[in-house]
Amino acid sequence: MTSGQRKIRLAVAGLIHETNTYATESTGPTPIAAFRQGFGDEIERACRGTNDAVGGFIEGAARTGVVLQFTYLAQATPSATIEAGAYAQMKQKLLGTIAAALPVDGILLALHGAGVAEGVDDIEGDLLGAIRALVGPDMPIATVYDLHGNMTEAMRSGSDLTLPCKLYPHTDLRERGMEAVDLLLRTIRGELRPVTRIRELPMLSYLVGTQEGTIAEQVNALCRQLARREGVIECSWFHGFPYADIAAPCPVVVCTTDDDAVLAQECAEEVANWIWAHRKAFLPHIVAPSEAVRQALAEPLGPVVLNERSDNPGGGTPGDATHLLRALLEANPPPGVCCFALINDSSVVQQAIRAGVGTTIEVSLGGKLGPFQGAPIEALAYVKAITDGRFVNRPGSMLAGMQFDLGKMCRLEIQGVDVLVASSAQQVFDVEPFLLHGIDVTRRKVVALKGANHFRAGFEALAARIIPVDSEGLSTTDVTLFPRQRLARPCWPLDAS
Ligand SMILES: [Zn+2]
Repeated sequence: MTSGQRKIRLAVAGLIHETNTYATESTGPTPIAAFRQGFGDEIERACRGTNDAVGGFIEGAARTGVVLQFTYLAQATPSATIEAGAYAQMKQKLLGTIAAALPVDGILLALHGAGVAEGVDDIEGDLLGAIRALVGPDMPIATVYDLHGNMTEAMRSGSDLTLPCKLYPHTDLRERGMEAVDLLLRTIRGELRPVTRIRELPMLSYLVGTQEGTIAEQVNALCRQLARREGVIECSWFHGFPYADIAAPCPVVVCTTDDDAVLAQECAEEVANWIWAHRKAFLPHIVAPSEAVRQALAEPLGPVVLNERSDNPGGGTPGDATHLLRALLEANPPPGVCCFALINDSSVVQQAIRAGVGTTIEVSLGGKLGPFQGAPIEALAYVKAITDGRFVNRPGSMLAGMQFDLGKMCRLEIQGVDVLVASSAQQVFDVEPFLLHGIDVTRRKVVALKGANHFRAGFEALAARIIPVDSEGLSTTDVTLFPRQRLARPCWPLDAS
């Protein structure tokens, strides 16, 4: 396989979607319009320097002198099940552009791992099977995933190298992209013969961060220890994504060795056994909105960050739940103490635009997208600012350097609380959405936002305290509440074992 003077060429492709199948009833399936699609070199222009997998592919290629052939990349904010026609269209574009790029020496893929389309419960396994059929069994393929992927046997067998990110917030996607280039090159040169084995756990996935002291960090430490064993190339685990009614929304350990299937299986078993023995440590401890607001206002120092986990658009929810905002308003804080980002309600943004900055409008805000979002907030709102909703994540936060466009936005003052309203659903990663609207969060006592854990990369350094908040919602932490028609049983903690 060595190429002499000829440069090694790798095709780059991706389709990234985290699917909350439970959101489908509230919002309808996710249409093609929800996806940002890029072709050829425009992918490189969009991803160069970003802290994600494709940004890492680009950096890895630059360091090793590899030529990248960009084909197709589609990604959307997490949301409901992908429309069948949208998925078919994207799959066809992905396969068609890879076919047009051939011959190449290998393929780099950026996938999520928890994508579900109508009629396809495992879109990554489906895509990898189709790519394999296109390029044949000998083409080396490396895939970088989000650790919230629901790993399957079809995904394992379709890819030579399976590299989920290891950190949550996912600040290491770029690093994993660079590793993918390195390992794929060594495979192409015949220096490695990667063999991957997995071990599924019969327990529901819980969203647990990997900060110091967490149970997930302890699992990572064990994986690091096993990765140092002779012959082991890579040992990781998928945390899984619980907000999908599929057979196994569960953690899966994945281990890759240099041509040693027995060792790969042994390592995967060892980590899986450890997780199983410690499974109770994954159960969440979360407070209700009113109690969280009470604690935050009582803190001597701010800012206290309250994150609404139950409506986390990063987990595919509609982003217009009013539970935490209502608790803030009911606490009746003095003006200028609390700010909140953000409610997805384009009709209220349009109303603010029509009325104009400096006016007071009567709003019915949020609570419109399904039965779990709480009632709309009926209130008088002062229109403080209107913006284009565009910003770039700052260095240090997750997806640093990535451009966001939430549609037109406004800053409303409701009973002294500053509330950002956007035209689309999005979790908050860092202070940029606040800054865009003239809010310096360091001067606020309480900073409320929607998100589960990704925001920590952008807020931990400035927060005096962080209080996770839960209520009913499409990403509530009590994952046992969701109906499970397709789940393989038994599954802890639904079935005690
Ligand atoms: Zn994730």
